[in-house]
Amino acid sequence: MSDRDGLIWLDGELVDWREAKVHVLTHTLHYGMGVFEGVRAYETAQGAAIFRLQEHTDRLFNSAHILNMKLPFSKAEINEAQRAAVRENNLKSAYIRPMAFYGSEGMGLRAENLKVHVMVAAWEWPAYMGEEAKTQGIKIRTSSFTRHHVNITMCKAKANGNYMNSMLALREALDSGCEEALLLDNEGYVAEGSGENFFMVTNGVMYTPELTSCLDGITRRTIMEMARARGIEVREKRITRDEVYIADEAFFTGTAAEVLPIRSLDGRIIGEGRRGPVTEMLQTMYFDTVTAKDPFNAEWVTPVK
Ligand code: PMP
Repeated sequence: MSDRDGLIWLDGELVDWREAKVHVLTHTLHYGMGVFEGVRAYETAQGAAIFRLQEHTDRLFNSAHILNMKLPFSKAEINEAQRAAVRENNLKSAYIRPMAFYGSEGMGLRAENLKVHVMVAAWEWPAYMGEEAKTQGIKIRTSSFTRHHVNITMCKAKANGNYMNSMLALREALDSGCEEALLLDNEGYVAEGSGENFFMVTNGVMYTPELTSCLDGITRRTIMEMARARGIEVREKRITRDEVYIADEAFFTGTAAEVLPIRSLDGRIIGEGRRGPVTEMLQTMYFDTVTAKDPFNAEWVTPVK
């Protein structure tokens, strides 16, 4: 990742990709106290355009506020940095990674007066799990790792340290021949995937877990709005793993994963064992909206030029 041509926005300037480095005593590297975003830009008739840029920037600032981290840039500057990272690397479509982290001014949990740095990188990143997964769906397992409890870490923050739990769960799932993990909360109810929100459809009603231990996903909000606009009832409720086994359809949502059907959970086929009709309709609407083919909420799309 680090050895390539291009530019990365770091602390207000575009620097050469290979020179965008930090010291080994970078505080966030040691304790994981940092915040980040995952954003996508899609190819549209007006060139590359970022999907729901303002919402991602707002969530980055909320995450920082939750961690008591003061970002030294305005939201407008971080929006512009994301547009620049895509534009200046001549990307038609991109995954954009803004992150705020503490510098190397001190070490230890008590370190004070740490400088907050902000970086934004952008690169091409095609479908998260390949094109076939978008139609055939993925095989997932219930994780042996519990999702964060709301008072152990801050679930509303997209914080670096939170992702150790995600990586443990994902690695376990991959090692056991699955493509993703389904994490349960500390009471045993469905929370989310390692990097995605969860939805299921039963008897025409769409269900998703309440926002307790899962991230307030921007794709989740988008899909709920799209479903409601199409007259589908959407309910947020506690979901058990066996409710998922007998659902008609299930899918994950996320900026990286987009709308990804789930074929099976713990060896139980869900519905027809491939993308169901509601999932397909929402997936199509999602791709048409992010690429600005469908004018549904055209203001969600921000061209980089
Ligand atoms: N949950 C987790 C744990 C995630 O990392 C992500 C990806 N940011 C999501 C859900 C989906 O969020 P979004 O739709 O905003 O990408």
